Amino acid sequence: MPIIVSVPKETVPGEQRVALVPELVPRLTEAGLEVAVQSGAGELAGFFDDGYAAKGARLEAEVLDKADIILKVQPPTIVEISHMKEDSVLICFLQPYTNATAIRALAARQITAFSMELMPRITRAQPMDALSAMSTVAGYKAVLVAASRLPRFFPLLMTAAGTVTPARVFVIGAGVAGLQAIGTAKRLGAVVEAYDTRPAVKEQVESLGAKFAELGLAAKDAEDKSGYAKAQSEDFYQKQQEMMSKYVASADVVIPTALVPGQRAPILITEEMVRGMRPGSVILDLAAEQGGNCALTEPGREIVRHGVVIIGPMNLPSTIPFQASEMYARTVTNYLAHLLKDGGLHLDLEDELTRGPLVTHRGEVVHEIVKARLCSENSTP
Ligand code: NAD
Repeated sequence: MPIIVSVPKETVPGEQRVALVPELVPRLTEAGLEVAVQSGAGELAGFFDDGYAAKGARLEAEVLDKADIILKVQPPTIVEISHMKEDSVLICFLQPYTNATAIRALAARQITAFSMELMPRITRAQPMDALSAMSTVAGYKAVLVAASRLPRFFPLLMTAAGTVTPARVFVIGAGVAGLQAIGTAKRLGAVVEAYDTRPAVKEQVESLGAKFAELGLAAKDAEDKSGYAKAQSEDFYQKQQEMMSKYVASADVVIPTALVPGQRAPILITEEMVRGMRPGSVILDLAAEQGGNCALTEPGREIVRHGVVIIGPMNLPSTIPFQASEMYARTVTNYLAHLLKDGGLHLDLEDELTRGPLVTHRGEVVHEIVKARLCSENSTP
């Protein structure tokens, strides 16, 4: 019996992406798999049923109950999990640190679930790095959203009606999203400054034509061996806020993107700092999904405080669903290809690429950090 790979329509409100695009269907069928796509699954992203059918997928009204492998973008709901076959395999963004109920339900249903967020940061995993792919989309869109809310131009303009000075953009955190935001803001003609606790980033910021903000702070063990930022002390964050105040105050747009994996985003912009900004300025907090880098950010909302527009977007990648789906689908199919051998699933748990994103397997939560979080939740009174 060939393995059936299913792609359901996403059910989370506002989610427009789809986990597989027609162009990638032959990659799976040529590997000996059958592909079943739920009718309408790609519609919001601009991928229609006939496109999938033309590439060899079956279109079905319901796909979860027959699937051996399920490709999704968002974590499944409890109802969706109840429709999945026992022993099936799920690959998606599982939000592994905040999704205890679904993770327990997946384990109880004996589903082998892989979380794309937990892909190890090793060279071999780069084509499967869904988080970086989505950060690229978010960094780009963040600048467009902020530019459209700003009551000013981004570029320098010399016109007969006078000279327009360029907008000043300050990007905090120059990882994948931050660097994309810097590049996009530069292309729109803004004057861009950026800061990151990882010293290695300075050169990358400058290579994009932006200025690295020298705060004179030395972060302790700025990054771990995988290139992620490490959390700093409260004292460090307080000094960082003080040193950044003048950069924030002189910016028209601030785009904070600073994250520490598995933790709430650090607060880097206080209410006092917001008060110091010019009215009409914009903060687009790309860390909103992890609580926000600005103390006033309300995740999922746009608010105005002290005359400053503060936007806390949730799921920006879904607002560019065509290419975000293409990029996500490539990372997911690359990962699935890694798990396959001779037309069947081959889970080599000695391989860190297989083991790293694995959250539930054979009825257990097997990811050590996720398991520890679930246990500490159980012991919380
Ligand atoms: P991220 O989304 O976890 O964090 C965003 C940025 O915030 C990071 O650059 C981080 O250093 C920064 N940050 C954290 N605390 C900060 C603070 N207090 N002040 C200012 N900045 C702060 O990180 P990311 O963008 O996913 O990746 C970071 C880097 O990892 C990338 O630039 C890249 O070099 C590397 N990377 C490697 C691989 C790989 O090898 N497979 C994959 C992806 C990324």
